[in-house]
Amino acid sequence: MQSLKDKIIKEGRIVDGKILKVDSFLNHQLDVKLFEEMGREFAKRFEGQGINKIITIETSGIAIATAVAPAFDYCPVVFAKKHQSLNLDAEVYQSSVYSFTKQVSYQIKIAKKYLNEKDRVLIIDDFLANGKAVEALEDIIRQAGATLVGVGIAIEKGFQDGGKLLRNSGIHLESLAIVELLEEDGTIVFKDEQNDL
Ligand code: 5GP
Repeated sequence: MQSLKDKIIKEGRIVDGKILKVDSFLNHQLDVKLFEEMGREFAKRFEGQGINKIITIETSGIAIATAVAPAFDYCPVVFAKKHQSLNLDAEVYQSSVYSFTKQVSYQIKIAKKYLNEKDRVLIIDDFLANGKAVEALEDIIRQAGATLVGVGIAIEKGFQDGGKLLRNSGIHLESLAIVELLEEDGTIVFKDEQNDL
């Protein structure tokens, strides 16, 4: 999606060689207009697939998923919780996510009453790196007996393995910008649009 790529080029910063910092529009300050455009793009790419629920993971995924939901007929958005909370039901599906950046595993949870076998689910997230967050969400969707229709990602880091792993396992993955290289001089290189599959 060209407008997202333009925004990344204009405002994205590279940290430690492999982290793309996009705090000005995606991870801290939020560009809701851009998110809504992303929603319309996902709706085109997943058209006619009967998606009735969007699943994401706190924190940054929530903002994007919320702005994407109107393009899917205002379907419910459910976010997996990372933190123990008194508000969370005792009956939960849970799975473990390994974070390469923090080198720790943490549990994510979704209350059983918000996901069931009738659901046709689209996973939405801000970044795809090694794919561990998406794999854990996929695991929870499987536990619930729901159907995973596809995965919609704002920014995929093509130089990490997540995209390859998910596509090889047959998942319909759509990434709106695929970053192929983060160069030392600060240049951000995208994968060819034609190969943006
Ligand atoms: P994965 O589970 O695919 O390895 O990592 C996905 C999660 O890590 C994303 O939801 C995002 O929060 C975080 N992440 C991974 N790489 C980056 C990055 O380059 N920039 C930012 N802002 N977040 C990242």
